[in-house]
Amino acid sequence: MEKRKERILDLKKQKNAVILAHYYQAPEIQEIADYVGDSLGLSQEAAKVDAAIILFAGVHFMAETAKILNPNKKVILPDLNAGCSLADSCPPLIFKKFIEAHPDHIVITYINCSAEIKALSHLVCTSSNAEKIVNSVPTNIPIIFAPDKNLGNYINQKTGRKMVLWDGSCVVHEAFSLDKLIALHRLHPDAKIIAHPESETHILETASYIGSTSGMIAYVKTSPFTKFIVATEAGILYKMQQEVPEKILIPAPSHENNTCACSECGFMKMNTLQKVYDCLLNESPEVTVSKGIREKALIPIERMLELSK
Ligand code: SF4
Repeated sequence: MEKRKERILDLKKQKNAVILAHYYQAPEIQEIADYVGDSLGLSQEAAKVDAAIILFAGVHFMAETAKILNPNKKVILPDLNAGCSLADSCPPLIFKKFIEAHPDHIVITYINCSAEIKALSHLVCTSSNAEKIVNSVPTNIPIIFAPDKNLGNYINQKTGRKMVLWDGSCVVHEAFSLDKLIALHRLHPDAKIIAHPESETHILETASYIGSTSGMIAYVKTSPFTKFIVATEAGILYKMQQEVPEKILIPAPSHENNTCACSECGFMKMNTLQKVYDCLLNESPEVTVSKGIREKALIPIERMLELSK
C-alpha cells in the first residue's frame, strides 16, 4: 500500500477517527474510507458513528449533516471550499420568502442543501427515498420541493403530485449531452442507459433505469444485461466496477469537449489524499453548525431517517 495511505490509516486509528466517503470521491479516497455510500447511506452511517472524529470525504452540506447528527463529535472536511452548485442555488433568505409566498405548504428538501435550508424544512429526503418521503404526506396537503427541480419533476411524474418546485439544479447532472448520448447509444445498441434523477427530463426519458447512486449499483448487479451507459457523476464507476467486474460501464458524455467524455463534480474532486492526511493531522478544517440552526435542521433529518427504516 502507498505510504501516504498507510499514514492516513495510522492517524485514523491514533485519533479514533472514522472516514465516511461519498461514491463521487476519487478511488484512492474510497479505498481508505470506513464507509462509502450515497447521501442516505452516509447519513444513516453518520447517525451511528461512535468515533471521536468524523472525517467527511464529500462536500460541505454532507459534513454539515453529519455534524447536525453528531453535535458532540468533531466533523472535519478536507477542503472547506468543497461546496455544491445545487446547495448554492437555494439561498436561505430568498427561500424563506418563497415559503412565505406558499402558506400551508409542507416543505420537503433534498439533502443537497445547506443546514439553514434544512432548518426551514418539514422533511428532508435523498434520491433513494424521495418518492417514499413525498408519499408520506397526505395528498390533500400541498408541497414545496427544493432545491432540485429535476428530481422534483421526476417525483411529480412518479407520484402524480403537483409539488411547487424551487428552480435549482446540479451543474454536473445538467451537463449531459442528449445528442452525444444518442450517438454513443448508437455505437453500443446493446447497452442499457441508467440515470440519476438529478438529470434533466430529456436524459431521463432515454433511461431504462432511474435511481439513486446506490440504486444504480444494485440495478447493474442484478440486471441480466452486461453493458451500461451511466448518467451520473463518473466517480460512481469505481465502486460500480468493483461490484460488477465482468460488466462494461460507459460514462454518459457531457456537453463539454473533455478528454474523458464524462461528468465529474469539481467540488467532490477538491478532496485529495494529501488534504485528507493534512485534515486528519491538524483536525481541521472543522465544520460547525450553530445550535439554533442545528436543532431545527435535526428534526426533518430525523423524520427522514425514521421514514427510511
Ligand atoms: S454532483 Fe452536483 S449535487 Fe452532487 S455535490 Fe456535485 S454539484 Fe452538488
